[in-house]
Amino acid sequence: MMTTDSFVMPFSEGSADQKSLLGGKGANLAEMTRIGLPVPPGFIVTTDACRRYMAEGGSPAGLFDQVDAALADLEAQVGRKLGDPESPLLLSVRSGAVFSMPGMMDTVLNLGAMPSTADGLAKLGDEWFAQDATRRFLEMFGRVVLGVDAEGFDHNVEQANEAAGVASERDLTVEQLAEVVAKHRQTIADAGKELPEDPRDQLRLAIEAVFRSWNGDRAKAYRRIENIPDDLGTAVNVQMMVFGNLGDRSATGVAFTRDPATGEKVHYGDFLIGAQGEDVVAGTRAVEHIDTMGETFPHAKEELEETLDTLEQHYHDMCDVEFTIENDKLWMLQTRVGKRSAAAALRMAVEMVDEGLIDEVEALKRVTTKQLEAMLHPRFGPNAPEPITTGLAASPGAAVGKVVLTSQEAKERGNAGESVVLVRPETSPEDLEGMVASVGMLTARGGLVSHAAVVARGLGKPAVCGANELKIDAKAGTVTVNGTVIHADDIISIDGTTGQVVIGEVELEIPEDDPNVAKLLTYADKQRRLHVWANADTPEDARRALAAGAEGIGLCRTEHQFLGDRLPLIRQMILSKTEEEERAALEPLEAQQKEDFEAVLEVMDGKTVVIRLLDPPLHEFLPDPLELRLKEASEGLDADEQKLLEAAEFYHEHNPMLGVRGIRLGILRPNVYAAQVRAIIGAAVARKQAGGDPRPEIMLPLTATSQELAWGIKLIHDTAKQVIEESGVEVAYTTATMIETPRAALRARELAPQVDAFSFGTNDLTQLTFGFSRDDVEASYIPAALEQELLPVDPFRSLDPAGVGRLVEMAVTEGREVKPDLVTGICGEHGGDPDSIHLCHRVGMNHVSCSASRIEVARLAAAHAAMEVSGPGSTA
Ligand code: PEP
Ligand code: MG
Repeated sequence: MMTTDSFVMPFSEGSADQKSLLGGKGANLAEMTRIGLPVPPGFIVTTDACRRYMAEGGSPAGLFDQVDAALADLEAQVGRKLGDPESPLLLSVRSGAVFSMPGMMDTVLNLGAMPSTADGLAKLGDEWFAQDATRRFLEMFGRVVLGVDAEGFDHNVEQANEAAGVASERDLTVEQLAEVVAKHRQTIADAGKELPEDPRDQLRLAIEAVFRSWNGDRAKAYRRIENIPDDLGTAVNVQMMVFGNLGDRSATGVAFTRDPATGEKVHYGDFLIGAQGEDVVAGTRAVEHIDTMGETFPHAKEELEETLDTLEQHYHDMCDVEFTIENDKLWMLQTRVGKRSAAAALRMAVEMVDEGLIDEVEALKRVTTKQLEAMLHPRFGPNAPEPITTGLAASPGAAVGKVVLTSQEAKERGNAGESVVLVRPETSPEDLEGMVASVGMLTARGGLVSHAAVVARGLGKPAVCGANELKIDAKAGTVTVNGTVIHADDIISIDGTTGQVVIGEVELEIPEDDPNVAKLLTYADKQRRLHVWANADTPEDARRALAAGAEGIGLCRTEHQFLGDRLPLIRQMILSKTEEEERAALEPLEAQQKEDFEAVLEVMDGKTVVIRLLDPPLHEFLPDPLELRLKEASEGLDADEQKLLEAAEFYHEHNPMLGVRGIRLGILRPNVYAAQVRAIIGAAVARKQAGGDPRPEIMLPLTATSQELAWGIKLIHDTAKQVIEESGVEVAYTTATMIETPRAALRARELAPQVDAFSFGTNDLTQLTFGFSRDDVEASYIPAALEQELLPVDPFRSLDPAGVGRLVEMAVTEGREVKPDLVTGICGEHGGDPDSIHLCHRVGMNHVSCSASRIEVARLAAAHAAMEVSGPGSTA
């Protein structure tokens, strides 16, 4: 039993649940000892001792008395003694922090190998082994503990090799090695360092050196990256050395209980005959697969197989191990839960549920949303060259195609079957058809909620946006990146999951349709409370979303139905001068919208479809006035173009995002909204007549005041009533407002009674809360602010909990106070972001709505949120 000032614990007394005291390695060595696996005996100097060392600037009183006592027990147990000339014990002294920090801290092996113990050591192996162990010890102790430059030792070995005419120190004779040992001692003396002759002193110094390595530069940098607290300290594992290098009856290796790359339930690993662990890591000699181990080491192989099974059954997870065979006897040097690829994580989680090893909740904990995402979309393979530039990872997936610089060309060539990547400074609604026909999109400007990003996600196409190092010259047909010129028609590859852009064709990893994904998601669906809906504008989007598991449509952006060959119709409507002209122009639009809505409602039969009335400023449907002016000056304009120019200038606004859009547009052009409502209700009537179960919800965007909302709701009800009465078919519909302005959030109590639902448009809400132009800041300010740590994350990627999140929470809570059955959801791009989904869960929303390509990830994130696997800031 340990008392408060107890700093040392033998392996035989600890267990796996004491990681914070014993470190990960120590706790697992203790656990393996406890369950009877062959672990070389030893003891652990605890993290407590390290923390005291750091606090007191030296080892705490009593530490080394306890080390001496533990060492005496160890010596008695193994029948050898540290420093004993006849029968010497050698020790390994290894760091072992609570969280694995591979290679970041120090280790001393072969402690106790000195010229004075060489004869005794020779009895264990042979004289060569004795000299080699001493050489290795002096090198490690000299470098790690005494701080002697490694170069001096390297030089001694190289000189000896050269003099003997051999390629490696493995080929030196005993005498030659003994000379190297003598030279190493001299190197230490020349560096002004003193090598203690007594191995007990060496042990003390080695333990303190491991303590100090906790605060080494490498370790500190690693902790910063991995978010490991600085005050945990490391444990030190002091263990009897076993030797894989005693000749051809000895070996060393690593193994996994399952294949860490594929997750297949087969033992996997490598070994090396006549070698120590560091030789395997150095990679200088070819290793053999453990499948062949039975030929050389039949007993050890059998025992290793059993041990691997025992470990997996014991830890209920895939484990990796380091092992050594010393004269045919197997020893386990380390185990831990093994690292794995995304595919392996998924496969093992699902198969271990089937095997009864873990339950579904545990399986969900073992797959991160990042790993799931990697399983769903094509990505760059491992041999991808260095990217020429990296932009924002705007829409997941990777694509390879020829550079095309105009949407018109992308449309023509893409539709003709060519793989083209559309490269634009940014995109606008006019680019839609070109985007549909491309395999991927790359833009120089625009952020995560820019047109290109939103549309690409909706289409399920890869996109890299805001790659601001690109200089695009469409006229010259070139894209310049930091001095490198890419020409139209050159092949490029983009990865929208990482934001990387590569010149030339990158080999892609295409995920297979993995049934384990569907299985894991059925577990997720049982755990999550949040519903997952989709942002989908067309029947095709809706079908894709449904296939991915969408339970409704949370946002159908109707403006996306006004593009392509319908653009002339909406332009006609905009250009109309009188109410009659406007009505006449709206008629065909209304008819087409009705068809659109019918088709979407049919796909989503029985599920809510939230249709938003027209939102963007009208100038988005008009040509660029500057281009028309230029044309006017050079070749003149025809009558239609003249009218378009007038309209484009009339509708031009300095801040269109803050101008006539959303419900304001409806208030200025009420016939447009009325026509849309007629189309929606008309579509529902038609679906009902066809025997369907349509559930439309009509949503008003960008509301700021309760009076505006009252105006919009009255228009909806009056218009709907008329259509219903005319048709004689009783259809039900619901209403919603988007909460996109801070004022709407602040006035939730007034808005909630008027509608059935709130949908948080967090793209605009973020834009307006921060005062960040959503189309501009991500190319300029946000990267700088992230770099200078002025922002923790890009608030357009992950909902800002402290500001925007507070508004959201307040609006949910206050809205529900006045209307307890108010349905609340999110339809901004944050709806597909795992950290934001956690926030939505916490504030008690009913659903999140995201693009079809993010539905699966959202289902898993919603389950994680319900299970509290991780919160904002984590990567799960
Ligand atoms: C939003 O603002 O979050 C939203 C969903 O609307 P849009 O992106 O179309 O402005
Ligand atoms: Mg919006």
